[in-house]
Amino acid sequence: MAGPEVSSADDLSDLLALAAAEPGPVVHGYWAGEIDTAVALGAGIGGDLFVDGSLGSRTAALRAPYADAAGGDAGLAGGGAGAGSPAAGNRGLLHLDADAVSATVVQAAEAGLQTGFHAIGDAALDTVLDGFERAADKIGLPRILAGRHRVEHCEMADAAQIARMARLGLTAVVQPAFDACWGGRDGMYAQRLGADRAGAMNPFAAMAAAGVVLALSSDAPVTPLDPWGGVRAAVAHHTPSAALSARAAFAAATRGGWRAARADGDGSGLLAPGAPATFAVWQVAGELVVQVPDSRVAAWSTDPRAAVAGLPDLDGPTPTCVRTVVRGTVIHDLL
Ligand SMILES: [Zn+2]
Repeated sequence: MAGPEVSSADDLSDLLALAAAEPGPVVHGYWAGEIDTAVALGAGIGGDLFVDGSLGSRTAALRAPYADAAGGDAGLAGGGAGAGSPAAGNRGLLHLDADAVSATVVQAAEAGLQTGFHAIGDAALDTVLDGFERAADKIGLPRILAGRHRVEHCEMADAAQIARMARLGLTAVVQPAFDACWGGRDGMYAQRLGADRAGAMNPFAAMAAAGVVLALSSDAPVTPLDPWGGVRAAVAHHTPSAALSARAAFAAATRGGWRAARADGDGSGLLAPGAPATFAVWQVAGELVVQVPDSRVAAWSTDPRAAVAGLPDLDGPTPTCVRTVVRGTVIHDLL
């Protein structure tokens, strides 16, 4: 996830070269800048291509104003309603409009590249969806679907937006740790947006039900690299109706990442004969369990004869990674 605003083309180029030269994690690069640079780097375009900002800084683009725009910290509240001074009525900032999104998507399609747009606020996601639909009008929906494009964060998606994402074949790259850190009635999201809008955020279950591919992400360094913490946070969502089952969260944290990177064509992301031997070995306290997240319908049989693969008990200690193998090469080994 590189770009001129967060790093440099040299930085990404060096990382990709290092990843190719040394045994280690597989790196898929994204460049949030000029498309010619992305082509030269062999990267996707976007990877957090900023459509808006963040809720913490009141720069995420909203349909309706921030609940606390006139109050809050001195740096944002000072100076009244003057230009560049977010005050009462502040709806955040859009860095791209729908025509710019559309133009990027069309260019990317011509170059065979995937795009990834950063959209946190509901108005930012409107802009992204309008842009993709305009692009579909120009080059046809099948080419949009073939691109398997991604939206990073999409934290405020409503049912209509989720339906549009599904129709466009967009992958939602989501950060359950954001809900763990800033969700809930007393969290930062509730301060910024009020309880109603905050309670509807990060609707993972609705996205999964609509057929939107989900991939879990840390957005490191925004939250730590902690994949089990992400799985746990997706299951223990502040809004229970938005939570994923442990199995769905695990799939989104593993196979979902390969799908989001369009790197699943060779079977990567699955433990199956013929798939690349890329996997982690975990040391787990206690037995594996088939976990049912709450009192809702038990979607997975807990009868051992159903042969549903178990997972670590998410209420227990975090599993320890004792071996990591990438395409048959051991890159980390405590065994
Ligand atoms: Zn982002």
